[in-house]
Amino acid sequence: MNLHEYQAKQLLAQHGVAVPSGEAVTTPERAREAAARLFAAGQTLAVVKSQIHAGGRGKGTFKSGFQGGVKLCRSADDVFEKASAMLGNVLVTKQTGPEGREVKTLLIAGAATIKKELYLAVLLDRSTSQPLIMASTEGGVDIEEVAEKSPEKIIKELIDPSVGLMPYQARKLAAALGLRGGLMAQATKLFLGVYKAWWECDAAMLEINPLCVVTGADGMESILAVDAKMSIEDNALFRHKEIQAMRDLGEEAPLEIEASKFNLNYIKLEGNIACLVNGAGLAMATMDIIQHFGGNPANFLDVGGGASKEQVSAAFKIILSDPHVKAILVNIFGGIMDCNVIATGIVAAVLETGLTIPLVVRLEGNNVQMGKKTLAESGLNLITGDSMADAAQRVVAALAAS
Ligand code: GDP
Ligand code: MG
Repeated sequence: MNLHEYQAKQLLAQHGVAVPSGEAVTTPERAREAAARLFAAGQTLAVVKSQIHAGGRGKGTFKSGFQGGVKLCRSADDVFEKASAMLGNVLVTKQTGPEGREVKTLLIAGAATIKKELYLAVLLDRSTSQPLIMASTEGGVDIEEVAEKSPEKIIKELIDPSVGLMPYQARKLAAALGLRGGLMAQATKLFLGVYKAWWECDAAMLEINPLCVVTGADGMESILAVDAKMSIEDNALFRHKEIQAMRDLGEEAPLEIEASKFNLNYIKLEGNIACLVNGAGLAMATMDIIQHFGGNPANFLDVGGGASKEQVSAAFKIILSDPHVKAILVNIFGGIMDCNVIATGIVAAVLETGLTIPLVVRLEGNNVQMGKKTLAESGLNLITGDSMADAAQRVVAALAAS
């Protein structure tokens, strides 16, 4: 589950990480009030930040033509004006795709005078099965670009999960970023806090880009997390009620929300051959084999090891609500799964939805004879595949012929 910047910053602040003071608002009037409070508290500059589940907002463009999803303002009236231009409008960034995202919430924060933009992230390194903290002096830009052009500028520290990030590691990172004296002490504390937030919130990824060295009104330098991007591991969400409440369904694909209600693992893709499969590995293999035979998968859909008739039926309806879907491939290997449950589910769903596109079914395993019988006796117009390769070829051919 992804979080908004303002939510990630709340969690960071709870773990002792220095973030700019700010408020999330949903109307231009509230934006003005929040800004007025910041100016009254001594800020000389405020920043208006679009809250969407995508990065690249600063360089984004609204469909209205308004430039930039992150704007610096010198007065509360200016904040009101910028907020009016952003709220309710669609922001397109490098990460949103051309359809963009509607901005419904803004973060109004005190803006710092930035001296240096750094990069910091914590994630799970799958090759070593250890948490990994990454930092770079090249903040504010796409880290993918840094990784490609100057990989030596990315500093990495692997963390032993049984002891967590050690202070010496945090100091090593700070030193590598060129931070000295008081800034090193602040950065060390911040890195430890960021790692703690990542660990305790069961985050999958936590990225601070930019992490800034800022200059205060008194000329003193300090370290501040100016942006934050955080995603939480879905499988651990059950133990974080507070974070669950932060879920913003408006930012999620409607079909994926529908699928999660039925405990289906569904991800929409760009192609036109829908797949209904049991098991994530088999689902991946099915997508590969469709591509191998020249087709394009419309989705990833894992109905799980023990799906019920209702789940299969729901899965079918979800698949069919994607207008790009022009053919369906059902690929089931019944281990725990009873093939006849799948077959009954398919028949029920097809009768209910009045399927008009080609449907190829490949069933194998537990109670397969009964499943095949159910399909054969249903009188439905469907194509059966003998093996995975056979079924994939048939669905590609059926699509070409239709
Ligand atoms: P992103 O574009 O979605 O990654 O949004 P960011 O929060 O990273 O903002 C983009 C850029 O706006 C940053 O790299 C900064 O250069 C600038 N920016 C954001 N917040 C502040 C701020 O408080 N003060 C100043 N001076 N610049 C800021
Ligand atoms: Mg950023």
